[in-house]
Amino acid sequence: MFKDIAIAALRENGYKITKPREWIVEYLDGNKNHPTALEIFDDIRKSDKSISFATVYNTLDTLVKANIINEITIDSQSSRYDPDTSNHVHFLCEKCKKVIDIHSDKVKPILESMPGKVSGFDIIVRGECDSCIKKS
Ligand SMILES: [Zn+2]
Ligand SMILES: [Zn+2]
Repeated sequence: MFKDIAIAALRENGYKITKPREWIVEYLDGNKNHPTALEIFDDIRKSDKSISFATVYNTLDTLVKANIINEITIDSQSSRYDPDTSNHVHFLCEKCKKVIDIHSDKVKPILESMPGKVSGFDIIVRGECDSCIKKS
């Protein structure tokens, strides 16, 4: 499903569906790790595939503009990409740097309480995740 929508969006924006672009879409499908462009690039290359960073970057940029994926800025160094565009909050573990999706009905009343129409939001809660707490 995600793959079809993403491929259609790339086509609409004048991109030919090449293997590398398909790999990026497949990589993101159901991905909950909120990877950076560099991580996507590295992971795809690790499996012996030839892809350029420019392809990764431009494909992500197009998918963001087409609202197929979300770009989230958690740290100032680099954007992360999230194929889950539903309303959710991110919990960042400051120890292991893991970003955990929090889907909660409690977000809706917050959005509804805004003085106008909400077009998007970034809520990042910082702390220490359960598995890091257990380790220490
Ligand atoms: Zn952690
Ligand atoms: Zn997310």
